[in-house]
Amino acid sequence: MQKILIVEDEEKIARFVELELTHEGYEVAKATDGRRGLELAESGGFDLLLLDIMLPGINGIEILRRVRRDSDVPVIMLTARDAVMDKVSGLDMGADDYITKPFAIEELLARIRVTLRKHSSSHETPHDVLHCKGVTLDSERFKVAYNGVPVELTAKEFALLHTLMQNKNIVMSRNTLLENVWGYDYVGETNIVDVYVRYIRQKLDEKFGVKLITTVRGVGYVIKED
Ligand code: CA
Repeated sequence: MQKILIVEDEEKIARFVELELTHEGYEVAKATDGRRGLELAESGGFDLLLLDIMLPGINGIEILRRVRRDSDVPVIMLTARDAVMDKVSGLDMGADDYITKPFAIEELLARIRVTLRKHSSSHETPHDVLHCKGVTLDSERFKVAYNGVPVELTAKEFALLHTLMQNKNIVMSRNTLLENVWGYDYVGETNIVDVYVRYIRQKLDEKFGVKLITTVRGVGYVIKED
């Protein structure tokens, strides 16, 4: 099991990311201040670090600088919107990637996968391809196909389909889908989920005559494998 350390002082974000990563099968450790974060990071044993930059105690850049003295563990920085200088100094200090808050969890998960894969490319592992009713979804190459015929989806459509296929046979509420695909702090119409399901249906269900996404009235959506 791959171990991820998240150092983030905003409890809500830290908890949300911890839950999602755990759900994805990662082992997660969490620190909400810089000192504890550095302590854990230096204790080693992690496959990846998620470091917020503005932290009480020791900031994320400083943690990164100290970790980099003797470790090449992959690091993704969490930065506030438009904090260009933070990104630059983070990358200068040897961060592998950064993600701007607020972010959608699917994007964070994708970046974690890519960063981990890059890091371990020496021992090539088969990647994650989901299958259902003739539809295949390759989460790392961002490719969807129906019986080998490529289907062009936008990033959000892809993320929504990915979430539904990953949770095959589980009814997903609109709110869960909203949180997973649009982010925990999405503000706007909840019917955005319905709109995007419709887009996917146009490109898949209707085009190929496959019944992929089932509506569960009053609740949400499910992809059922018969
Ligand atoms: Ca912070």
